[in-house]
Amino acid sequence: MNGYQGKLLRVDLSSNSVNVEPLSLEKAVAFIGGRGLAGKLIAEEIPAGIDALSEQNKLIIATGLLTGTTAPTAGRYMVVTKSPLNNTIASSNSGGFWGAELKFAGYDMVIIEGKASAPVYIYINDDQIEIRPADKYWGKWVAETTDELLEEVGDAKARVLTIGPAGEKLSRIASIMNEKDRAAGRTGVGAVMGSKNLKAIVVRGTNKVEVADADKYKEVISGIMKKIRENGVTGQGLPAYGTAILVNIINENGSLPTNNFQESYFDEADQISGEELAEKYLERKDPCFRCPIACGRYCKFDGDESGGPEYESVWAYGSNCGVSDLTAILKANKMCNELGLDTISAGATIAAAMELVQRGIIKPEEVDGPALEWGSSEAIVEWTRKMGLGEGLGAKLAMGSANLCAEYGSPELSMSVKKQELPAYDPRGIQGIGLNYATSNRGGCHVRGYLVSPEILGIPEKLDRFSIEGKAEWAKVFQDLTAVIDSLGLCLFTSFALSAQDYVDLYNAVSGKNITVDDLLTTGDRIWNVERLFNMQEGYTSKDDTLPKRLLEEEISSGPSKGNVSRLAEMLPLYYKARGWDENGVPTEEKKQGLGL
Ligand code: SF4
Repeated sequence: MNGYQGKLLRVDLSSNSVNVEPLSLEKAVAFIGGRGLAGKLIAEEIPAGIDALSEQNKLIIATGLLTGTTAPTAGRYMVVTKSPLNNTIASSNSGGFWGAELKFAGYDMVIIEGKASAPVYIYINDDQIEIRPADKYWGKWVAETTDELLEEVGDAKARVLTIGPAGEKLSRIASIMNEKDRAAGRTGVGAVMGSKNLKAIVVRGTNKVEVADADKYKEVISGIMKKIRENGVTGQGLPAYGTAILVNIINENGSLPTNNFQESYFDEADQISGEELAEKYLERKDPCFRCPIACGRYCKFDGDESGGPEYESVWAYGSNCGVSDLTAILKANKMCNELGLDTISAGATIAAAMELVQRGIIKPEEVDGPALEWGSSEAIVEWTRKMGLGEGLGAKLAMGSANLCAEYGSPELSMSVKKQELPAYDPRGIQGIGLNYATSNRGGCHVRGYLVSPEILGIPEKLDRFSIEGKAEWAKVFQDLTAVIDSLGLCLFTSFALSAQDYVDLYNAVSGKNITVDDLLTTGDRIWNVERLFNMQEGYTSKDDTLPKRLLEEEISSGPSKGNVSRLAEMLPLYYKARGWDENGVPTEEKKQGLGL
């Protein structure tokens, strides 16, 4: 079928062998590609209950059906594995150019198995595939590794995906970086790569991605480009101010978590806003492959420069640590990119450590670095460095906030779901996003269904953010559509401007098939259920579909969302019903059969 290259690479690092295998078209059609297909394969291929950092785990890096085509934002890939942070099915998404390059090399995905006996990197140059020594890169930071690998392969057009020291040291919040500052950030995928002694994958390709109906594809793309350009979010807000445009918007809605979610309004939000970033630091926009939105930032600060920061990074290091110094946030963000840490989890873990200090739980004598005080610019930068390098108390922080807070006997102070740190929206002020967080298959996250879109931005229609009415059904549809977009290899931000029908039109023009919106959303539901079943096999139950106690029981004390708590308990049974699961959140036999599972 067109769109796919029809081949996958299976690399066994234990036996130092590489095999090219045909892609199963039947599975590809049922799960599209990217997150969906790779999730299905992980669920099938790894035994239940394995240690995520053992040789038995596999790491799949998968492109989507549309990755490498001319569709807008079609450069994305997913990293799917068993998470070393929480044992869920991990899938972490990144943009940039690496994903498209893998497709150009002629492969839909790479499956990495086993563990090398010494550090290696994989070099893919069309049909030439080699596992090469990487001892000299071990310990090096991301930018240096990237530059030196490009020099070694002698091809400036190659693309580099690598881990930093954090992944090597098996930090449970380590990311995988590509093109220096694009991150597959969440769920600790960088540690899985580190556990396999795999430092990097360099890829270069010269093939094309064929589409079934080139004229039709062109026509569909032209229509959706128009929608993207004319939409206020994708055509104006994101290009002008990046994702940090949300800082003021979310703060004005009283939902900008501050000081580890102790407050939900930050008086100094203006100083860390996207507007401030654009005025004082923005050097240029930094778009991913074929992206007309160009939300990516490239900034100069204090004699230094770096890609980013995103809204989530600004928040995690900003209001969530009580910091209003944007220069310090830029430095912390760069430190994360260089060391290979997830900015959300890293910033949120420092915030949790600050609260542990505030409450006298971490004693001053244990703090072998700058004081962990709210608002400290020095602390956010230096503690990120210590986390990435695993130094002193930094080694404990590098295991994420859930492990840190549990170690200090205060698990309730970790603002996480299924051990993964929550992102930048207080669910007490935006009810639907709380349901998204609680039911996300990979733990707390905002890109598994983004109800902030209707509840705050009014897209595709405005919902009352304090009401729970209809939120269960909305959550399901957004989660299923998100699974589809991730599997197509497109950026989720396209969904601000596009409808489900637009994705169907793209799918049909590429594949030559003739599916409907119902078919597409059923595929999203199938992907969601496979992930849910994987997690259940690992021991997850409805008890884990929850939020930190603080968000369920403590009312927001001030600001525009004052007096609210999350009403998750009321929404959850309705959500299970909308999913067609039983009252315990278990997919019924009928449901599984209906999805062909
Ligand atoms: S919208 Fe932003 S993140 Fe998405 S593809 Fe474009 S530049 Fe990359």
